[in-house]
Amino acid sequence: MIKINNPAASYLAVLDFATRSGVLNPKKLKLSLLFILISIFLLGGVSERHALACEFIRYSSYSEIAPNIFSSSSFNRSQNEKLLSIIKAGKSRINNTFGSMLSSPKVVIAATEYEASEYGSNAYGNALLTPFSQCIIFGPKGQNIDVVAHEYTHAEVHFRVGWLNHYLKIPIWFNEGISLLVDFREPYLVHNIELTQEEINSVKEKTTDFFSGKNVKKNYQAARIAVDGVDKSRLYDNLEKIRKGQDIKSAFSL
Ligand SMILES: [Zn+2]
Repeated sequence: MIKINNPAASYLAVLDFATRSGVLNPKKLKLSLLFILISIFLLGGVSERHALACEFIRYSSYSEIAPNIFSSSSFNRSQNEKLLSIIKAGKSRINNTFGSMLSSPKVVIAATEYEASEYGSNAYGNALLTPFSQCIIFGPKGQNIDVVAHEYTHAEVHFRVGWLNHYLKIPIWFNEGISLLVDFREPYLVHNIELTQEEINSVKEKTTDFFSGKNVKKNYQAARIAVDGVDKSRLYDNLEKIRKGQDIKSAFSL
């Protein structure tokens, strides 16, 4: 899963509303600017709430069990050691599949679903990727090598192309498909997926509705098949092409 905080969309929504409501009148320009600034702050405050909570986790009850890795105070020492070994193994899987990682996101390990939800995650995991920060949350069902490798891959793709390119040029199906290349949970293994070509193609039309509805699992499966032809050893090189201005189709020959 991935959650892209989106100040640009908040800004456009506010601007749109302001224009329609007539607030954007030259005579009232000062008032308008004030209105827009306050609105951005308020909207941003809501959408960035979880990312901010992550930023300030150092001042919470979570313990920093390794540099930039914070675990719930409910975990004991041996549980923390096990969590660190799982994270190490997940990162190794990425390094061995795509090449060495460059990103170093902040990590939050929650003990319960409720704790995970406080950072905007479901029971598995989430990556909060903003223009200024990267934060990965692992919920109680996400403390395994598959989910760790999956979420770290989201952070790595975001880091490689930059926030704006990530937001504008990396479709959700592609992002999830790439993360599933290192996520070996049974339902997402190619030999366990049975979908028609039409179903696979239709996932490419989805945006945020990828994560909603009753067929979310099918969407992930379709995304996995849709990236099956991607050359893993060239992933970083091709992401670099996107960072330099190419679109996804030309960079990955899709
Ligand atoms: Zn994901």
